[in-house]
Amino acid sequence: MSIEAYSLLKNGNLKLSEHFKVREFYCRDGSDPIFVDTELVEILEKIRTHFNKPVSITSAFRTASWNAKQKNAAKYSQHLYGKAADIQVQGISVEQVYAYADKLLAGRGGVGIYPPGLGRANGWVHVDVRKEKSRWRG
Ligand SMILES: [Zn+2]
Repeated sequence: MSIEAYSLLKNGNLKLSEHFKVREFYCRDGSDPIFVDTELVEILEKIRTHFNKPVSITSAFRTASWNAKQKNAAKYSQHLYGKAADIQVQGISVEQVYAYADKLLAGRGGVGIYPPGLGRANGWVHVDVRKEKSRWRG
């Protein structure tokens, strides 16, 4: 695994894997560059393949200033390092996505369901490739 830097302007359409492009990982404040961990892309591609449904990334790389503006964001969020993505898989419940990501990452990485509590119909799953294991289901 390694953390790669890309330019939204110059490499936005570059494919990182069969189903994911650089621009899907951009910080939603629109800034350049974008940092992406190669292992994160591999995990997302496996989720895409397993469910055979489109995966939408709602948030991936975040600058410190953008991260500070997000609700529920940890100060040292894995999003700051390009190691995390918040995803929704078309037609698949967050519980199913959580269960598969948990299995994929086995004894490491972070997997969590948002938002905490009820109202998960429009929720999402956070996946990250940190070394230690962290799980939360709200
Ligand atoms: Zn997240």
